[in-house]
Amino acid sequence: MKYALVTGGSRGIGKAVCLKLAEELKYNILLNYHSNTEAAGATRKEVQKLGVECDILKFDVASTEATQDAIEKWKNEHPEAKIEILVNNAGITKDGLFIWTNKEAWDSVIDTSLNGFYNVTQAVLKDMLRARYGRVINMVSLSGLKGNPGQVNYSAAKGAMISATKALAQEIGKRKVTVNAVAPGFIQSDMTKDFDEAELKKHIPINRFGEAEEVANLVSFLASEKASYITGEVININGGLYS
Ligand code: NAP
Repeated sequence: MKYALVTGGSRGIGKAVCLKLAEELKYNILLNYHSNTEAAGATRKEVQKLGVECDILKFDVASTEATQDAIEKWKNEHPEAKIEILVNNAGITKDGLFIWTNKEAWDSVIDTSLNGFYNVTQAVLKDMLRARYGRVINMVSLSGLKGNPGQVNYSAAKGAMISATKALAQEIGKRKVTVNAVAPGFIQSDMTKDFDEAELKKHIPINRFGEAEEVANLVSFLASEKASYITGEVININGGLYS
């Protein structure tokens, strides 16, 4: 009963990751989401069609208590299950120039990405270390590497996740638990649906936005046994926009 826990698995990149890990690696999926119950249910059906289990876990990754409670409850109800893969994918944006960024816009973006990484990883890592096997994959962003004007909060959250990825990888490599980050550029999803792709693609060497499935292909490789000697890395997937 091997499971992959994917946060923000209801839509966009997280949904594509759930489907890919089910299809290619044959993992059962533990699908976390926050509020879009309809999307989570639809994704679950698609995952189940691939012949694996898909359990839905609704919680806010920004809440330490809610995250711990939901994961502990699930683990107690599934004593035979092992979470071998964790994809910290849940994230939000609240864009605007820094001078106009209020405390709520600052905190909520940091809480979801960075503190979400803390909350969820804390809840599953000990089991991976005991099992001496695990894959942690953090969904970061080009913004966290180069910094993006209008996204100081988001760049800070993703930049901190990148550093945390590198540090944690060094702490736990001996236990055969790898920790890597995936840094997408512009990917088609609800997060980018209002962006002007025709204008922005002029700056992208591959001349288009990426697809969620293309990011999922990379996550699936990093989550597989084939990636056993890769840890502490940040892999760009941005159509050549930046590296
Ligand atoms: P999306 O389409 O907006 O989907 C976001 C997902 O995260 C949804 O499943 C949402 O759940 C979930 N979520 C949001 N807040 C949450 C919370 N507090 N607790 C639990 N789940 C939460 O976004 P996306 O484009 O797929 O992005 C996925 C990740 O990739 C994010 O970390 C994002 O920063 C990163 N990324 C995206 C791009 C891009 O161009 N799209 C580029 C670089 C990095 P509900 O359905 O319940 O709302």
